[in-house]
Amino acid sequence: MSLMKSLATLLTLVALAAGAYSPATSAQPAKPAYRTTEVAPGLYSFGAGMAFNAFMVTDEGVVVMDSFDQDFAAASLAAIRKVTDRPIRYLIYSHNHYDHISGGAVFKAAGATILSHATSADWLKRHPSPDVIPPDETWSGARSELKLGSRRIELLYFGANHGEGMTVFRFPRERTIYTVDLVVPKRVAFAYMPDFAPREWERTLAEMDALDFDRVMYAHNAPVGPRTSVADQLRFLRDLRAAISAELEKGTPFMQIPDTVKLPQYAHWDGYEACLPMNAWRVLLEIAMGV
Ligand SMILES: [Zn+2]
Repeated sequence: MSLMKSLATLLTLVALAAGAYSPATSAQPAKPAYRTTEVAPGLYSFGAGMAFNAFMVTDEGVVVMDSFDQDFAAASLAAIRKVTDRPIRYLIYSHNHYDHISGGAVFKAAGATILSHATSADWLKRHPSPDVIPPDETWSGARSELKLGSRRIELLYFGANHGEGMTVFRFPRERTIYTVDLVVPKRVAFAYMPDFAPREWERTLAEMDALDFDRVMYAHNAPVGPRTSVADQLRFLRDLRAAISAELEKGTPFMQIPDTVKLPQYAHWDGYEACLPMNAWRVLLEIAMGV
């Protein structure tokens, strides 16, 4: 079993634990029922369950955001070909994590130039994966823009929050953003918040919430949702931090805090039982250590 498949299985198990699937389908995780959703004219989400990428069809070709893995990328390319026969111009990586950017070879073979933030490209140079094609071009700083035909994609980097070079995509004309990992609707944070800096994550979400957009496209749990999901994600993190601080003030023994913290207002969110204590560990350690 490949690492990617292992992670996909783990994510499925977390979803199962959260009761996200009915008992009839829970014995054997079904093959993903991929679907293409036109979020706005020419702007699409593709995927299922725990993996959704984004693509935009312009007069001058197609821009794809994230490839996940080889199988996903092949299915994504086939789905694009059902919408348009225009050339694949760019594949843009959201960040450095292998589980989002493996399989880029599929789009590279179709003619795409691969683009990522310079910070992510530097990391990939130092930590190559046989499944990840290094980017051909990079962008740097806090903001850039890709113009293709009459379309614009704004590339936004808010600093260290999750992984390296995490890019939030804003589509100004479509009043939509595509954000990967930073907002997962109606789900507590994954496991021990791998490679998240929780304080910086909160700062980023507050800055994202000040942007001009109406809709959010996600990488996990749902293709698209309302802009309020950004504030919901931020509120969860702030509530978690406040609950941990309250236990510290009460004098609850350090090692007992993660199992003591409960946030019943989020009990209906996916992963609550399985992940909340791990989420609490991550924030508790950040409070204790500063990082
Ligand atoms: Zn990630």
